[in-house]
Amino acid sequence: MSEKKSLLNHTPEELKDLLSAMGEKPFRAAQIYPWLTSCTPFAEMSNLSKELRGKLADQFTEGYPEIETVAISKDGTRKYLLRLADGHLVETVLMEYEYGRTLCISTQVGCPMGCVFCASGLGGLVRNMTAGEMLGEVLRVNADLGPGRNISNIVLMGTGEPLLNYHNVVRFLKMIHDTRSLNIAYRNISLSTCGITPAMLKFAQEGMPITLCLSLHSAIPEKRSRIMPVQQRCDLHDAVAAMKHYAETTGRRTIYEYILLKDFNMGEEDAEALAVLLRGQICHVNLIPMNGSVGDFQGPSKKEVYQFQEKLQRKGISATVRRTLGQDIEGACGQLRARYMGNQE
Ligand code: SAH
Repeated sequence: MSEKKSLLNHTPEELKDLLSAMGEKPFRAAQIYPWLTSCTPFAEMSNLSKELRGKLADQFTEGYPEIETVAISKDGTRKYLLRLADGHLVETVLMEYEYGRTLCISTQVGCPMGCVFCASGLGGLVRNMTAGEMLGEVLRVNADLGPGRNISNIVLMGTGEPLLNYHNVVRFLKMIHDTRSLNIAYRNISLSTCGITPAMLKFAQEGMPITLCLSLHSAIPEKRSRIMPVQQRCDLHDAVAAMKHYAETTGRRTIYEYILLKDFNMGEEDAEALAVLLRGQICHVNLIPMNGSVGDFQGPSKKEVYQFQEKLQRKGISATVRRTLGQDIEGACGQLRARYMGNQE
């Protein structure tokens, strides 16, 4: 394990202070930061003296993750398994849409939430990721894609519960939004939570109008409890109230995610409960047919998906079906990491 600190985990301001403390001119930060955001090793930072490059390398690592393996789908989706400095593996998924390239990043190593349909939580939480490690996911993939093919949208929907790593996630969002860094507009960023209500309320006050998504998955409390242990701590009605507050505070439309589990949450009573819960809200429902198989749950047929969507639309709820990308490469959360780690044991 590397004992040196990652330079990438510093904001441009912090980098200035750090260089001053090393006896260097603070303007060097403006020379170094563009190198960092293009994933360049110290040795190739060609406008720095050899001496300064040596000093940096003695005290720091750049902080970029290494690519352990990449799975490329027929539809162009790429799933990266990245190795962090301490050897832990995280997944990052690149999806190509008409409007640009979206990267789905992980925010924790493993996940503590234990949702029964999700492979990310199988081994529990290992640790939180730092802001620099999350930024590293984006930079490594950008570098792999090559010049002019940059990621335009970021979704925090990979492994982990972002709002349980609050401080680092907020720091990361500020970093990618910074014009000296990746300059990604807040409207091009989405964060998905399983409903950590106090953190959702706090996040509404951060002045970062990103799209907030709630993994609802059932509007019936007893049913939701059976698939999402978080329901016992944070009731869905409180989470929905927090979503309303977020929409009112930021002016952003919110999104409800609803995983479609065959013979479980797709009946008439499920559609009715969802319609009653969301009535009157400016929001959108994203239906996600379950990908892969974890536990006893299975994905529905195409026909069942559209039948449920129609049920909702008849009740006045706007709902779209998420395109299932990367099905041939274990595109669902945590599947590649889980298999890879299983094979290593
Ligand atoms: N912890 C956060 C973010 C990570 S999960 C959250 O719960 O929202 C991102 C989304 O992928 C969630 O909506 C999650 O429920 C969904 N998901 C997890 N496993 C899935 C699977 N096998 N098929 C389809 N979607 C899945």
